[in-house]
Amino acid sequence: MKALQYRRVGRAPEVVEIPKPEPGPGQVLVKVTAAGLCHSDLAVMGWPEDQFPYALPMTLGHEGVGTVAALGAGVTGVSEGEAVAVYGPWGCGGCHSCAEGKENCCPHAAGLGILPPGLGSPGALAEYVLVDSPRHLVPLHGLDPLQAAPLTDAGLTPYHAIRRSLPKLLPGSTAVVIGVGGLGHLAVQLLRALSPARVVALDVSKEKLGLAAEMGAHETLLSDGEAAARIRELTGGTGAEVVLDFVGAGTTLAVAAASVAVAGDVTVVGLGGGTLAVGFGGGLPFEVSACFPYWGSRTELMEVLELARQGHVSCHVEIFTLEQAPEAYERLHAGEINGRAVVLP
Ligand code: NAD
Ligand code: ZN
Repeated sequence: MKALQYRRVGRAPEVVEIPKPEPGPGQVLVKVTAAGLCHSDLAVMGWPEDQFPYALPMTLGHEGVGTVAALGAGVTGVSEGEAVAVYGPWGCGGCHSCAEGKENCCPHAAGLGILPPGLGSPGALAEYVLVDSPRHLVPLHGLDPLQAAPLTDAGLTPYHAIRRSLPKLLPGSTAVVIGVGGLGHLAVQLLRALSPARVVALDVSKEKLGLAAEMGAHETLLSDGEAAARIRELTGGTGAEVVLDFVGAGTTLAVAAASVAVAGDVTVVGLGGGTLAVGFGGGLPFEVSACFPYWGSRTELMEVLELARQGHVSCHVEIFTLEQAPEAYERLHAGEINGRAVVLP
């Protein structure tokens, strides 16, 4: 089968021919119908050789949906031909977190060498992807694969990030979204669907700000040195109750710290390498809560897919073939993808 692999540190990924996998006991083989490209893949492909944590070559793609193609011995609960989304942050399956569906918070996964597809295990940017357990599969129930693929990360991650802040997103509250890319443009829609808060979107690109406005942002601002002051102005001086940073660079975290309200939430989703000082004298207003969430839970994925089926969120997609995926990553790197790049293999 064809697969997009990251083969050598520092080199562009390549489409190669590899053997079609066979499902072992307990595993499910999924024929991929759509797979999304995430900025995290660029972060991974930017890591230096001496710190690279995964075995190479590695098939990329941690946002995948498809149809069940074959069942390993002992697998029950799914049937061949069923359309499913792959839940990516695999855990041990047996601990308290995993029992709650919060496999993204499994404390044992790393120690057991359990790695998500596309981030250590063979991913979904291929004709087929092997899934370790049927519990990682969530039925699409009629949702378009093109829509569903990005929702498994670009939808799930902001949904999880926003849910923790819902008690602070009241009528009259303000939520700031920094970085309106794949995750951010879905965050704007999720905020509108889940809360009455005013949504302020920030980006460095006017085109992305246009998309933010289309997706329901009440205000759009260029992400520059004036941004924090403008957010203060828009909020009558008090600042925003919730700031979600989908960039995570030093400069955007400085905007977050300078624009969050007393007792607000700063949620850092982006892997931009910046850090936030938490503590008295660190620059944050009193009682601010800071968090850097990882992906989301299995039940949250079910909820995001349901929101899409109900028409509350829809991903703005650019479609590519597997052969075009290396070029799609280049365009993502250059900031030229509006919404999410999705590969139809
Ligand atoms: P993307 O490239 O689609 O979007 C990034 C957006 O940020 C673009 O619109 C870009 O124009 C904008 N941007 C860049 N610099 C900016 C600045 N200084 N101020 C404001 N906007 C700026 O990326 P994505 O796939 O949506 O991912 C967003 C981030 O989230 C990445 O860092 C990714 O690695 C991370 N991520 C984290 C998790 C998690 O579990 N925490 C999951 C998925 C992705
Ligand atoms: Zn676990």
